[in-house]
Amino acid sequence: MAKKRVAIIGAGPSGLAQLRAFQSAKANGEDIPEIVCYEKQSNWGGLWNYTWRTGVDKDGEPCHGSMYRYLWSNGPKEGLEFADYSFDEHFGQEIASYPPRAVLFDYIEGRVKKAGVRDWIRFNNVVRDVSYDDASGKFTVTARDSEKDQETVEEYDHVIVASGHFSVPNVPEYPGFDGFNGRILHAHDFRDAREFEGKDILIMGSSYSAEDIGSQCWKYGAKSITSCYRSAPMGYDWPDNWDEVPALDRVEGRTAYFTDGTSRDVDAIILCTGYKHHFNFLPDDLRLKTANRLATTDLYKGVVWVHNPKLFYLGMQDQWFTFNMFDAQAWWVRDAIMGKIDLPDRATMDADWKKRQADEDALEDDYACIKYQGDYVAELIAETDYPSFDLDMACEQFYKWKKHKKQDIMTFRNNGYVSPLTGKKAPAHHTPWKDALDDSLESYLQTGA
Ligand SMILES: Cc1cc2nc3c(=O)[nH]c(=O)nc-3n(C[C@H](O)[C@H](O)[C@H](O)COP(=O)(O)OP(=O)(O)OC[C@H]3O[C@@H](n4cnc5c(N)ncnc54)[C@H](O)[C@@H]3O)c2cc1C
Repeated sequence: MAKKRVAIIGAGPSGLAQLRAFQSAKANGEDIPEIVCYEKQSNWGGLWNYTWRTGVDKDGEPCHGSMYRYLWSNGPKEGLEFADYSFDEHFGQEIASYPPRAVLFDYIEGRVKKAGVRDWIRFNNVVRDVSYDDASGKFTVTARDSEKDQETVEEYDHVIVASGHFSVPNVPEYPGFDGFNGRILHAHDFRDAREFEGKDILIMGSSYSAEDIGSQCWKYGAKSITSCYRSAPMGYDWPDNWDEVPALDRVEGRTAYFTDGTSRDVDAIILCTGYKHHFNFLPDDLRLKTANRLATTDLYKGVVWVHNPKLFYLGMQDQWFTFNMFDAQAWWVRDAIMGKIDLPDRATMDADWKKRQADEDALEDDYACIKYQGDYVAELIAETDYPSFDLDMACEQFYKWKKHKKQDIMTFRNNGYVSPLTGKKAPAHHTPWKDALDDSLESYLQTGA
């Protein structure tokens, strides 16, 4: 019998988790399907593969990158550590808890280099279209190889969508934007805080992006930061030159007017207004439509597309847990595809995601949300051979992180946390975050030296 063929769309942390999951089964002597991973960029790592580009990429496709220079992990690394590849194993030394982007990229890359899966990826290949044929029971994937300047059309038994959901910006429109005498940009296009040195900036939003981009601009010398919120303020004890105000009403010239009647003159407006789950390569019957939440709509166990269970999605949840959650999902999806996990009937699958959403809706605070997602990760891991680890301990590290942020939003990254894998507490970084202007791998690894 011909081998099953599986297409993976995206070689970011989720897609790479899927490759590693199949490779580990192969290493155990199992007969795995033929795997093809399509990646539109020229390298792996997804958002962690930094690009200075904005707008369109080298091939005229929407630029995927949303990360910026000087980005340090916004949560402790002890909460995202791969259970099959510890930070200690990769770096050969203990490192501090909030690695900059380049350090995390190196860690992500280290595991897949060791696994030897690069050949399974078709780089510079953007998936343009996926369709499903009821008669043959197969998917057709159409991709464009920008290096060869060629289109390919191939059939697969399964498709796994791992294209991320923090790349296509949600852009609001306000009266006066078109006449604003300054720069307006979405967080997706923010690349370097030094651009805003000495400037008065307005940050719109109250999510991670607002908090972190504002903090970056503060660190690199913005004159003042005003952040405005629609529902609730972030509520941290901000530095003296940072004010939090209610929602924007309109802009006139360089002046931003807020709904509480106050106003500010600003040089730039940064829209930290979120991202869309956007899959322009999928037809209606295969396309996930969900809010950014912990329990996604129409996905059994958070990964199986209930309308056609040969199709899977990875990493589509709002994320407290990241890399290890993608791993848990990828191992589970692998086993579903390889027939080691049986999928139930449609009614049971629907009941599953609906119950998950009802449970999520009843959660009272962020601490409960962290525990909820930790339990979800533990649930998936228990059903596969992904190495189990102490998820409660991982949750504990997130709780401490939340408390440290509340204590001081500009110093929380100076703390160290306990690895649920090794049981060791990370050392403090050699330089407090606010003074550490060099975010290179070399600088960061001086920790503990
Ligand atoms: C600014 C920012 C900061 C973040 N900071 C952190 C952090 O500190 N810690 C943390 O744990 N998480 C952080 N995250 C969360 C982030 O979502 C995850 O860490 C992780 O990158 C998600 O992995 P992914 O593989 O699901 O998606 P992505 O990383 O987005 O990767 C998706 C991949 O799919 C490819 N792709 C997309 N469409 C196509 C197509 N049509 N054809 C072929 N390939 C395609 C892309 O090129 C990309 O390589 C951050 C996110 C953002 C936006």
